[in-house]
Amino acid sequence: MNAWHLRDRANFEAQRAAMVEKQIRRRGILDPIVLAAMAEVPRHLFVPLAKRTFAYADRALGLGPHSTISQPYIVARMTAALDLSNLAGTGTGDHEVRVLEIGTGSGYQSAILAACGCRVFSVEREAGISNRAAANLEAAGYAESVELLIGDGALGWPEKSPFGGILVTAGSPELPPALPGQLAATGVLVAPLGPPGAQVIRRGHFADGELRWQYLEEVRFVPLRPDHDADT
Ligand code: SAH
Repeated sequence: MNAWHLRDRANFEAQRAAMVEKQIRRRGILDPIVLAAMAEVPRHLFVPLAKRTFAYADRALGLGPHSTISQPYIVARMTAALDLSNLAGTGTGDHEVRVLEIGTGSGYQSAILAACGCRVFSVEREAGISNRAAANLEAAGYAESVELLIGDGALGWPEKSPFGGILVTAGSPELPPALPGQLAATGVLVAPLGPPGAQVIRRGHFADGELRWQYLEEVRFVPLRPDHDADT
């Protein structure tokens, strides 16, 4: 590693510390597990080379025509909404929380969940995007905790269910009907739902066998797309 690399690394570390303080803690996300994960994961390794200067900026960045790495605050907000310290060891038969993510994108959200101690299962419809996420996760050191699948995330990943948490990171008008059946009885589901332009992050959990919803925050996510044009 030469002097340039060392300087870059120190620079990114300083930017990441500032991101956690200004964009996340000061906006009210105080969950120590989430703050530690956001401080740990090298977000710049999940951003295309040409955009690395903006890796710690307060915004989403494009990865391809239908894919973005979400804004750091939104990643933190959705992760905090899972309430991982309460999920630990509940309903899934061991102490590790199993989380299903729909929309792998860069792999950054998967890495954050892995840094929180979760076992992560993430589904992405575009093979090129998924393969790049695999390489990013390997480079950042989180590949062992994350399993990736190329396919239609609206179907979930039934073979790996039940999940303590399900995180949908692409927007859709309605929750895909296959997902609640893959959530553990004590699990939490977080998804941006609503018509394009009016999506709201919602948090759902079972009460008396029905999903009860809380509304968290307005957002704009790239759409959850149907699988039939998976190669476009
Ligand atoms: N969580 C990602 C951001 C995801 S952007 C991150 O941290 O970087 C939304 C992703 O959902 C895109 O990569 C898009 O290709 C993917 N996607 C869209 N429709 C999908 C579907 N039906 N199944 C799986 N992935 C889908």
